[in-house]
Amino acid sequence: MALIVQKYGGTSMGSPDRIRLVAKRVAKWARAGHQIVVVPSAMSGETNRLLGLASELAPERANADYHRELDMLAATGEQASSALLAIALQAEGMPSVSYAGWQVPVRTDSSHTKARIESIDDQRVRADLDAGKVVIVTGFQGIDSNGNITTLGRGGSDTSAVAIAAAMQAAECLIFTDVDGVYTTDPRVVPAASRLHTVSFEEMLEMASLGSKVLQIRSVEFAGKYKVPMRVLSSFTPWDIDLAEEAQSGTLITFEEDEKMEKAVVSGIAFNRGEAKISVLGIPDTPGMAYRILGPVADANIEVDVIIQNVSKDGKADFSFTVNHSDFARAVDLLRTQVVPALGAKEVVGDPNICKVSIVGIGMRSHVGVASTMFRVLSEEGINIQMISTSEIKTSVVIDEKYLELAVRALHTAFGLDQPVA
Ligand code: ADP
Ligand code: ASP
Ligand code: MG
Repeated sequence: MALIVQKYGGTSMGSPDRIRLVAKRVAKWARAGHQIVVVPSAMSGETNRLLGLASELAPERANADYHRELDMLAATGEQASSALLAIALQAEGMPSVSYAGWQVPVRTDSSHTKARIESIDDQRVRADLDAGKVVIVTGFQGIDSNGNITTLGRGGSDTSAVAIAAAMQAAECLIFTDVDGVYTTDPRVVPAASRLHTVSFEEMLEMASLGSKVLQIRSVEFAGKYKVPMRVLSSFTPWDIDLAEEAQSGTLITFEEDEKMEKAVVSGIAFNRGEAKISVLGIPDTPGMAYRILGPVADANIEVDVIIQNVSKDGKADFSFTVNHSDFARAVDLLRTQVVPALGAKEVVGDPNICKVSIVGIGMRSHVGVASTMFRVLSEEGINIQMISTSEIKTSVVIDEKYLELAVRALHTAFGLDQPVA
């Protein structure tokens, strides 16, 4: 008998029929003798619907009070799906109880809409498990030290599940979703993508941080920190599939490099449409410029990703960087009003229609020429690279958004990741 945490995403919880199928699957695991904690997401579309309602009524300048209410609102999505799943389990004859984050409690810091989990009290959950119940804990939410409801950022139910698995020292955290594992790239963009049987924790961390939204990055960080065995698998297989087979399906996140397996140099391709590029043109090429540009940006809590500065000509240089789409207008405004006049720069120009494409693989550590292959493939497709950034196990390029699919597919083929044609 093992304690297992199972997370079900929005599509998996998308309708009463789907919730019934989740209940049957969960009951199968519980009847096999396992103690099960389930962490559901809100029904698909619900979080967007709720946040959409808020934006219709939002004040002109969003402040902390507004973000507090967003969390009050968005957390209701998971509360509803959790109660519905408990009811469906009861209808299956399986004793079950659901808890909102604050009832457990799942304690977080106070950063509304992107809170971090600090601790989880598992007493109540354990008592119910020992009494033979399936326990359901809402994903995505917690409570701060002032008693305010918080949420963990979009996709945050993954993190709730892994954090609960870590706190309870669960044998495994199973992330059930609408694809049957982690693929070499998003299978909805590249139909030839293939499923990875295992993916190393480091590669998964890079892929999540570079835009593969199959797992929220913080869930991968948690899994790494607490060594939580974690598997991504499908909730769309028949619910009564053999349990032993199901337990081995999907993609396992591993913590040690598998020596035996001949690994591809590039394991996966990630992309992110959610970035925008900003350039400050004609800055004096003197010490301190990067700081004087990015200092105010950081003070405004705007995250910066790829950065380049070009060579100066006539003592003037250009400085470019990318930010999240949602911060684009605010960043441009800030630079135009505060930075450009103080710096004596020429102007600020922005391009919201860019994307970032990245190749990821532990094999890149020990192979040379991987980045140059990437650049060659893009040049053969006539795609202009605007920015480049590298680390030990990834190379990212910023390109025009309209070439995203073309670039990802060409790279996928060039690095030998396409599924063999049957
Ligand atoms: P859930 O609602 O279950 O949390 P998400 O929509 O958050 O599901 O994540 C699953 C989706 O992630 C898939 O439907 C797929 O389109 C997308 N995805 C992006 N990159 C990958 C990848 N490398 N492997 C698998 N799925 C990916
Ligand atoms: N419901 C939340 C969202 O849509 C959390 C999640 O699904 O993981 O972002
Ligand atoms: Mg998700």
